[in-house]
Amino acid sequence: MDGSIALADIEAAIKPDDIHFARTRLLSLENTIGGKVLPQHYLASAQALAFNRGLKIHLDGARVANAAIAQNIAISDITAHFDSVSICLSKGLCAPVGSLLLGDERLINKAIRWRKMLGGGMRQAGILAAAGTLALTEQVQRLSEDHDNAAYLARQLVELSEFDIDLTAVQTNMLFVKLAAHVDADLLAKHCRSEGILISPGRTIRLVTHKDVSRQDIDKVLRVVKQHFTA
Ligand SMILES: *Cc1c(COP(=O)(O)O)cnc(C)c1O
Repeated sequence: MDGSIALADIEAAIKPDDIHFARTRLLSLENTIGGKVLPQHYLASAQALAFNRGLKIHLDGARVANAAIAQNIAISDITAHFDSVSICLSKGLCAPVGSLLLGDERLINKAIRWRKMLGGGMRQAGILAAAGTLALTEQVQRLSEDHDNAAYLARQLVELSEFDIDLTAVQTNMLFVKLAAHVDADLLAKHCRSEGILISPGRTIRLVTHKDVSRQDIDKVLRVVKQHFTA
């Protein structure tokens, strides 16, 4: 339940060397996944498995900075286990757009070619790169505030009988809130909307904290939600 895929399951999914099967070439892991941090020892084991089975290993690190901050380690302590890494600058790191692909020269040259073929080339992208630089230099350490806010929100919401939250899964800036059977998600969403809070109604609601959600904003959400259930 820590978000990892059992190594035995990965082994079992590797196709045999047989002309009838596609060749299994890559192991791709996501960290964080569902807001949860993959343990460092797991990354080491997955890296060894990939090496021993002749696979490359890729990190979907859209939120790898959150994983690093949650463990109080450097991003490079995580990425060291991978051949290639992708990182989103536009989520918790607050850039208006942008992601990074990191890998060896051969991979990057191939990726640039694919980007061009898919129409993804950009000119005058320096102004966006500047925002990306700020994301990496100014926003990484700040993620701990988002994590504290998510933990605070989770602790407060779990006190309400209308909500169920696995607090052990709240490790970064994301929480999954299950509504009790008797709660009408549409009514809750409607009430929140009338107070300027938008939520997507569903039996499980994903809440994510970020730079533009302050502790005060969270207190407002808590106030509005409590008001709905006591009205
Ligand atoms: C957002 C996201 C992506 C895609 O990121 P882009 O910036 O659109 O390339 C990939 N993986 C995960 C886990 C994400 O959350």
